[in-house]
Amino acid sequence: MPSYDYQCNTCGRAVTLYYKSYRAYDEATHTCPHCQSIDLTRLISRVAINKPSRNYGGMSSQEMLSVLEGGDSREVGQLFQDVGAGVPSSDGEYHEVTNRLLQGEKPASIDADLRDRSEQQVSKDRKSAASD
Ligand SMILES: [Zn+2]
Repeated sequence: MPSYDYQCNTCGRAVTLYYKSYRAYDEATHTCPHCQSIDLTRLISRVAINKPSRNYGGMSSQEMLSVLEGGDSREVGQLFQDVGAGVPSSDGEYHEVTNRLLQGEKPASIDADLRDRSEQQVSKDRKSAASD
């Protein structure tokens, strides 16, 4: 279940909100549970990367998301493309992300798509495991 940390700008509390899916997160109105304010600032743990072309393969998805949200889509896409050219294990999803970024699609939207897809895959796997 996705969860995000926020700072409420009205009551000043740190709050964590949970969502049924990443799509639900996209569509939700984010509301402070303490004072019902919708004036929330999402807290993203920024990851300092001095040489981003070096270590994309070793990044967690959370770190990757943080980088994506901090950058210009086309710039990040270009970066992916450069990095991906030297990565033998890069798969179709990697290239799909690269191409969508290069077309200027928002990283959050791509991220939500991929996460929804992997959640569906997980539930399919569970079903097929159960029927064995
Ligand atoms: Zn509040």
